[in-house]
Amino acid sequence: MEQLQNFIHNRFVPPQSGSYLENFEPRTGKVYGQVPDSDERDALAAIEAASEARASWARTTKEERSTYLLKMAELIRVHSSELIEAEVRDNGKPIKLASMVDIPRSAANFEYFAKVIVGQTHQAFEPREDYLHYTRPTPLGVVTCISPWNLPLYLLTWKIAPALAAGNTVVAKPSEVTPKTAYLLGKIVQEAGLPPGVLNIVHGLGHKLGPTLTTDPRVRAVSFTGSTKTGEVIARAASPLFKKISLELGGKNPTVIFDDADLERTLSHAARASFANQGQICLCGSRILIHQSIYQRVKTELIKRADGLVMGDPLSPETQHGALVSREHRDKVVGMIELAKKDGARLLCGGTPGGLGGELAQGYFLRPTLLEGLPPEHTINQEEIFGPVASLIPFKTEEEAIEIANGVGYGLAASVWTENIHRAHRVAHALEAGMVWINSWMERDLSTPFGGVKASGVGREGGQYALSFFQEQKSIGLQIHPEKKS
Ligand code: NAD
Repeated sequence: MEQLQNFIHNRFVPPQSGSYLENFEPRTGKVYGQVPDSDERDALAAIEAASEARASWARTTKEERSTYLLKMAELIRVHSSELIEAEVRDNGKPIKLASMVDIPRSAANFEYFAKVIVGQTHQAFEPREDYLHYTRPTPLGVVTCISPWNLPLYLLTWKIAPALAAGNTVVAKPSEVTPKTAYLLGKIVQEAGLPPGVLNIVHGLGHKLGPTLTTDPRVRAVSFTGSTKTGEVIARAASPLFKKISLELGGKNPTVIFDDADLERTLSHAARASFANQGQICLCGSRILIHQSIYQRVKTELIKRADGLVMGDPLSPETQHGALVSREHRDKVVGMIELAKKDGARLLCGGTPGGLGGELAQGYFLRPTLLEGLPPEHTINQEEIFGPVASLIPFKTEEEAIEIANGVGYGLAASVWTENIHRAHRVAHALEAGMVWINSWMERDLSTPFGGVKASGVGREGGQYALSFFQEQKSIGLQIHPEKKS
């Protein structure tokens, strides 16, 4: 059984406690590896390594850093088969998704920020003819990057790449539930020849490592993606210490379908938006708001599409719907479905766990599930479930659709489906969400701002937004003497 190790100062090292956590394979429900159960001592060792490397990494030119990042991208592509299999076995996602999205995007994250950093420009201001101000982006120093399990390498590299490009050294903490690709990234760091201490990776439980990783005086910024609950804990710990924090948190995203939508296109996208990655993408549309005049038709078609998704072995290329990430998470999702049923929801499809035989019999499978009949205020329509569960909600008017869409604590993303260009923009402007798609879902240019409002987070990732989080803009003022003095 493979035993993963922490990666500190470019060396693989065991946790100081000598203890390991079990790593379960979602497709079989069996233990298939061990993850370091690291504690404060490991976090301190990683911070120490990052701190030692800080000054020399900050002195590298942006072209040098860009070259390292391009090498990382290249090596992720070289090792993509191993990374894809690791992501599927750790997470339970379909291999098609890992091959088309997770691993290519992880390489693209490094490549993208390698290009952005060399193109970064400065600003200059001239308040008088004899005076010049200019800005100088400076790295922060040591930064912590903490990521969740749903898109493990994709989201971890989405933080690491801009942090390194900006000249910081990093302590990364991947989710303890999906540690394997982060472990393999350590090998890629060695192969790419990054200087020791520039990127350190510590595995283990968030509540054991979090306090040190988010409050140590040497850590200047914390970039976190995960649940709103953990985001609160981090904000409480790090904010009073004046650390920069970026929080990408949960969502309860609406898919708003008007009666003039191009239904054929809308339905296939709406189903994908609800169930991609078993509904475990923060951007997934878990509330489907449907104009009452087309409600029955949309409902019938969505059920057909949900039932038509091929659930199976995540390692099989035909599989469209894999396993959920863990037994605890699957039980939580099933618990929410049971709550909905108890309170009068109609279960339209899915809803029961399991359903596969052979070595997959104990896997964490749950068919795509659609519910209807609960009011917008019900817990099911308010709380993030983060699984293959979507709730159908009818509406009568545009105003009502906006009110329901905005009537939750979250504000991450939304999609609007209509052929009326005026309505499309009007609704997009009115929605309380960091990102709104019109007649599309999850199309992204890496330069666009990414992040939420309300309980969905603080700050923006993507392009210059990520760089500006990982840098300080120093302002330098210069008096130009009009007469030659020397
Ligand atoms: P989580 O909050 O349980 O864990 C996320 C990470 O935080 C893990 O690495 C975990 O070990 C660590 N952690 C836990 N407690 C900590 C603490 N006290 N201090 C520091 N770190 C701690 O989230 P999860 O269950 O892994 O992921 C699912 C959640 O992530 C969902 O809510 C989902 O919406 C959210 N998410 C958001 C985005 C986004 O961009 N907004 C993207 C993906 C996932």
